[in-house]
Amino acid sequence: MATPAPALPHVLFTAVRTADGSVRDLLVSDGRIAGYDPAETPDGCTTVDAAGALVLPAPVDAHIHPDKTTWGGPWLSREPAGTLRDLIDGDVRARAEFTSPVEERAGALMDRAIARGTRAMRAHVDVAPAHGLLGVHGVRAAADARKHLIDVQIVAFPQLGLLSEPGTAELMEQALSEGADIVGGLDPVGIDGDLEGQLDFVFALAGRKGVPLDIHLHDRGPVGLRQTAEIARRTVAAGMRGRVTIGHAFAVAELAGDERDAMAARLAEAGVALVTCALGDDPVLDPARLAPHGVRIAVGSDGVRDAWSPFGDGDMLARAHLLAYRTDARTDAELAACYEAVAQGGAALLGLPASRLEPGDPADFVLAAAGSLPEAVVDRPVPSLVVRAGRVIARGGELV
Ligand SMILES: [Zn+2]
Repeated sequence: MATPAPALPHVLFTAVRTADGSVRDLLVSDGRIAGYDPAETPDGCTTVDAAGALVLPAPVDAHIHPDKTTWGGPWLSREPAGTLRDLIDGDVRARAEFTSPVEERAGALMDRAIARGTRAMRAHVDVAPAHGLLGVHGVRAAADARKHLIDVQIVAFPQLGLLSEPGTAELMEQALSEGADIVGGLDPVGIDGDLEGQLDFVFALAGRKGVPLDIHLHDRGPVGLRQTAEIARRTVAAGMRGRVTIGHAFAVAELAGDERDAMAARLAEAGVALVTCALGDDPVLDPARLAPHGVRIAVGSDGVRDAWSPFGDGDMLARAHLLAYRTDARTDAELAACYEAVAQGGAALLGLPASRLEPGDPADFVLAAAGSLPEAVVDRPVPSLVVRAGRVIARGGELV
């Protein structure tokens, strides 16, 4: 992949539709939003016609599995699976037969995500004796080749179990020296059958390395809630407020009314963020109902066209649509809350500067044919332009 040219110092995007519906000219200087409708443009300013397209802050994919994807390769037929264990075993079998390396498959998916506007992703990458660190190395290589186009964080993810899969604990430690940025975890009770043991390990490792923690939690009902509460308690005790995430959090998503509100407030107080992927018939976190309590919510794709699922496409505007559909969003505020979780929730989770399209913000945005943000969430148009640091990096769904 060619290294893109450095950012142009000044670019005027003409005829940009803003959130209030007005059509304005947007000036970008040195990779940041300089302002709207400038009286005059700086010397050397180039012009890009936005043709009345709506400007949206660039989305973030807060939970994706690029090491597992078949994106860009032949169609994979999937076998029936009744349990989480069936899915994990089917994944290992399928991947043993993949012929293209992780770097190529992950890179193809990253290109797709970039072309659909994604400015950054948090990649959960399997760390297990069955795969060694091939996934971490491959995803890191794919990300390095695209570092001017997308920011990629890698979570060392013990997909096959941590304490229950001998050799994984040692590999987790090694992964953090060889390309991973974040410690992962997986259903301490449902997979390892040892709540205290897995949490002791992951909190100690994250603390020792000074990195965040991001734990998959599919366990539902009281078992899932007990683990959620224990993760929150340990987050505060370890001084890790703002650095711990629970992915999926089905047990929290199942709550309603006062129980949901109380849990949201508790997680907000502990500084534990939640990520939802709006998958299939699994419980889905509702940003419009949870975010007002202060808990941070971000959104991800999860697996994309892998052995787990034929679905997913790396398009986070489409994911906002799915989330809105699954949470029965109807008002403009509910629809907008889904995209807010995708863009701002994701940026906050990954520690990126917010891109709210205000002067001084990074010029990371998407232009798409829609009259308003709620309409864009419903229509999920392919971006006409994707802009990173003021530079057009994709047009009409294709990298430039
Ligand atoms: Zn996942």
